[in-house]
Amino acid sequence: MENFFNFEDLESVYDVAIVGGGPAGLTAGVYSGRDCLKTIVLEKNFPGGQVAVTEIVENYPGFPDGTLGSNLSELLYRHAVKFGTHVKYGVCKKIEEIENYKYIHLEGNPIKIKAKTVIIATGAKPKHLEIPGENKFLGRGVSFCATCDGAFYKDKEIAVIGGGDSAVEEGTYLTRFAKKVFIIHRRDKLRASMWLQEKSFKNKKIEYIWNSRPVQINGNDKIESLRIFDNKGNKEYNVNIAGVFVYIGWSADTEAFKGFVNMDSTGFIIADESTKTERSGVFVAGDVRTKDIRQIVTATSDGAVAAKMAEKYLEEHFSGERNI
Ligand code: NAP
Repeated sequence: MENFFNFEDLESVYDVAIVGGGPAGLTAGVYSGRDCLKTIVLEKNFPGGQVAVTEIVENYPGFPDGTLGSNLSELLYRHAVKFGTHVKYGVCKKIEEIENYKYIHLEGNPIKIKAKTVIIATGAKPKHLEIPGENKFLGRGVSFCATCDGAFYKDKEIAVIGGGDSAVEEGTYLTRFAKKVFIIHRRDKLRASMWLQEKSFKNKKIEYIWNSRPVQINGNDKIESLRIFDNKGNKEYNVNIAGVFVYIGWSADTEAFKGFVNMDSTGFIIADESTKTERSGVFVAGDVRTKDIRQIVTATSDGAVAAKMAEKYLEEHFSGERNI
């Protein structure tokens, strides 16, 4: 297995440089590596991205009994490395293009990755509530990761904010530890899939608080309560809880690519199913692309498409230079 932090074995020029090592990026790494293209995947945390911190993945085809997110991440990583793809630690701070080559600049590392094509697969990051108390308790009571922090709340009462798949799935997972989980949703109808909804309705440790949104997190050294606003009753009140898990959706992680590729008003990179951006030789795959359905399987699908598109681009623009 190669060393994630060792840059001594870098190629001078890559056929494909992939920014982001989640399911989309690693799948692109599998395809490009297997097509004998010199390929690198840069990841700023750990391979697998959000999936690596997901407890159980129940809807990825081929795993009828579900699989741990950490297991799926490791399999994707091993699969990419098996075909010769380099998977390295790196935070992309900008990309520039000089004479048809792309140069990826890294934070805290003078090395620039030179590549003929780039696939951006940086995923998305969790949205914050932006209410008083959230920043004060970040990492010590306010969490975006049930798998990472759930065990701290054994026999405690906690709140989960949101009504999508993540809130309901992670809220259900948290009942393994917590005495009670309040799922607080701003409407009276969940966005989550029916399967997850029904499972949560049967769980006696879950109590839904409908038509409500959090307005303040209270406490001195640790969280003591959450102030919520009841939209229907038009009143505010406190719920005593020890922790708040926030699952209100995701925003794109695209600061480094501003001015390099086109984005929509919310920061997602614009491309259709072909994964082609308006910049020649630059593709975008996974949750960071403008799309309706953000699932692991749609991310891996994008990764495969982007890798094949990159290969086609190389044949058209760099024929004769292929590193086979
Ligand atoms: P999501 O589907 O965007 O849901 C976000 C939820 O948060 C919605 O219920 C939304 O309410 C609520 N919300 C948004 N802003 C809010 C705010 N400021 N204050 C309070 N509530 C707010 O996000 P997600 O659940 O993370 O899912 C993202 C994608 O990943 C989806 O495509 C989902 O299907 C997928 N996913 C799939 C699985 C799975 O299949 N196992 C698991 C996790 C995620 P409204 O409903 O009123 O808009």
